[in-house]
Amino acid sequence: MKIYADNAATTKMSKRAIEAMIPYMDTVYGNPSSLYSFGQEAKEALEGFRQRAADIIGCEAREILFTSGGSEADNQAIITAAHLGEKKGKKHIISTAFEHHAVLHTLKKLEKEGFEVTLLDVHENGLVTAQQVADAIREDTALVTIMFANNEIGTIQPIAEIGKVCREKGVIFHTDAVQAAGHIRINVIEQNIDMLSISAHKFHGPKGIGILYSKKSIRLENLIEGGAQERGKRAGTENLAAIAGMVTALEDAVNNLDENTAKVTKLRDRLIEGLNEIPHSILNGDAVSRLPGNVNFCFEGIEGESLLLLLDDKGVAASSGSACTSGSLDPSHVLLAIGRVHDVAHGSLRLSINEETTAEEVEYIITAVKDVVSLLRGMSPVWRNLMEGKQKFILE
Ligand SMILES: *Cc1c(COP(=O)(O)O)cnc(C)c1O
Repeated sequence: MKIYADNAATTKMSKRAIEAMIPYMDTVYGNPSSLYSFGQEAKEALEGFRQRAADIIGCEAREILFTSGGSEADNQAIITAAHLGEKKGKKHIISTAFEHHAVLHTLKKLEKEGFEVTLLDVHENGLVTAQQVADAIREDTALVTIMFANNEIGTIQPIAEIGKVCREKGVIFHTDAVQAAGHIRINVIEQNIDMLSISAHKFHGPKGIGILYSKKSIRLENLIEGGAQERGKRAGTENLAAIAGMVTALEDAVNNLDENTAKVTKLRDRLIEGLNEIPHSILNGDAVSRLPGNVNFCFEGIEGESLLLLLDDKGVAASSGSACTSGSLDPSHVLLAIGRVHDVAHGSLRLSINEETTAEEVEYIITAVKDVVSLLRGMSPVWRNLMEGKQKFILE
């Protein structure tokens, strides 16, 4: 059996998205900036996709900027809002401790420019409240940036309420909605959102393409200088094929949202139920305000990387919060943010399923995780100490 349970990292492209891309590589390949008909046909298609994207999130077409993905959209939104604030003497930014690195590292850069950043504590259930935001906003706050749904633990923030607080206080509100788009309903008007980031490859679209929604009253700052594409705010010949794939995938996701949510939530809850049977384990993040496809557990006495490798041997592709990619053995900043101690945070596992996951696959995953956790605990000196009472359990 081979099971892909890492859809929060990236997804397989849908057939429909792939098919939607082909005409823009094959026949309508003109440069949208060219004046002859090849170009104009491409330009018309581009603007058609922009309108369709705008319709999905409830904004105007001119408020949609196509970017190279979620990271670029996050960077451009945050840098724009920070510098707009700076012009009015506002150099304070509010965010949370469990944002994606595209946000956290951009904030680090702004700190070096003299901005002050307040990272709100995240409650143990993986949520921040609108009240926390209200309490943190100051006269000199230029921006609040809080993610819609967390990529590791899947918790969904009270975005509309947070947006309302920001609006009342006249502060720009950006949300990284990369994990939310296509999985949770988004309406930027109803949810009081000024700026929002989307990435296609998290909802069966292609990699390397995304959207920055930015309210028309906000004057965007360029990250990339060059031609006048994207109303002069993002130079570079438009990747029309990728845009076609993204908008098609997003429309499909939104059209099937209720059905998929019901189906995936049921599978997710069975997965949680099954893994909860493992002793000395804990579900990370709220069980209810959580993405339909996200399951994230910590298992005491084991180490995430070994767990992943052994699961891979059993054909299950999953993820651990530990930042092994960066070459460090630091546990996930997200798990630390919700108060998991280092030893526990190291033993984390994220499974992100989707509408293509089957009930049989879920049962297979439960058995595989149980087997691997037992195997690893059987070999672990830490586990022996815990069992012999030489060390105290942290998780019940
Ligand atoms: C994947 C992800 C990103 C980065 O998006 P890319 O398109 O890969 O640059 C940003 N934020 C969150 C929450 C993500 O999950």
